Amino acid sequence: MNEPLVQVEHLTKIFRSGFIGGFEIRAVDDVSFTIREGEIISLVGESGSGKTTIGKLILKLINPTSGRILFKGEDIAEFNGDKLKKYYYKHVQAVFQDPFSSFNPLYKVDRTFELVFRNFLKNVSEDERNELIIKALHQVGLNPEEILGKYPHELSGGQLQRVLIARALLINPSLLIADEAVSMLDASTRIDILNLLGDFRDKYNTSILFITHDLSLGYYLSDTTIIMYRGTIVEMGDTKKVFNNSLHPYTEMLLESVPDLSVKWEFKKEIIPEKEESGVYAIKGCRYYPRCPKKMGICLKDRPELKEVERNHLVACYLYK
Ligand code: ATP
Repeated sequence: MNEPLVQVEHLTKIFRSGFIGGFEIRAVDDVSFTIREGEIISLVGESGSGKTTIGKLILKLINPTSGRILFKGEDIAEFNGDKLKKYYYKHVQAVFQDPFSSFNPLYKVDRTFELVFRNFLKNVSEDERNELIIKALHQVGLNPEEILGKYPHELSGGQLQRVLIARALLINPSLLIADEAVSMLDASTRIDILNLLGDFRDKYNTSILFITHDLSLGYYLSDTTIIMYRGTIVEMGDTKKVFNNSLHPYTEMLLESVPDLSVKWEFKKEIIPEKEESGVYAIKGCRYYPRCPKKMGICLKDRPELKEVERNHLVACYLYK
């Protein structure tokens, strides 16, 4: 088994919403998991389940309310100065959903690479820089001649996203956080980019935290899947086990809401929508209670703990003793 790279321990992030008398949003609530070296983990859940907040906490863009994140055994809360710079530029890189908003429209795309060299690869000569950029663009399946010297509006979303991945991979990070990184791309480009990420992991043993609301993408790419609901992990484990032998009623609902193209176009079950957001965060027990078709009295008493039901397959649900 590979060594742990990132250990997320009892991580909680509370946002306050509204003015006087507003309510607390426990965007991430006592979440623990480990990302191992070379592991691809999908963080899956519907909008508002806390996926991006976890990504931001690992990227140290925001601080946790409580809990901690260890990177190679060290608490990232303690990182500052050169160590923090090294963490940002050497160890952890991120690619976000909207490739257009990641570029300044006034500058050519080449500038995105210049910033990496200016901040981290300072001692690299001009010639070496060009070589590295060209190599990185080739790695992501782009022809440098078609990309360099262009402004963002002259490239497609798929090309820009590949440029961002090339930039992220230029420094060979230990961890890549891909937050809805393929959501805006068409289906064939999406698969190309997923394959690219998978190949990159195989070649360089890069760990990837793949944040998505699309179950099928997670199934295609990841070794481990974490299903989140309203800031909590409800199910987690080997991707094949989570998908082929799902345990939590929420995971089942998510899986049943994926349209099956091989049969008549219909959803198998009625999806119960969530009504009142603030109310859900106030629930003492399982947050899925209002929507759960299998709810029991005990579910409202205390939050069910994440328990290992079989090897590498955990669920937080009172249906499993
Ligand atoms: P999506 O798939 O829509 O991006 P998500 O699962 O990534 O959703 P988050 O963006 O992590 O969810 O948000 C989790 C909850 O925290 C949401 O209810 C959101 O409104 C809230 N939230 C996130 N950032 C802030 C903030 N800066 N201030 C207040 N509330 C916030």
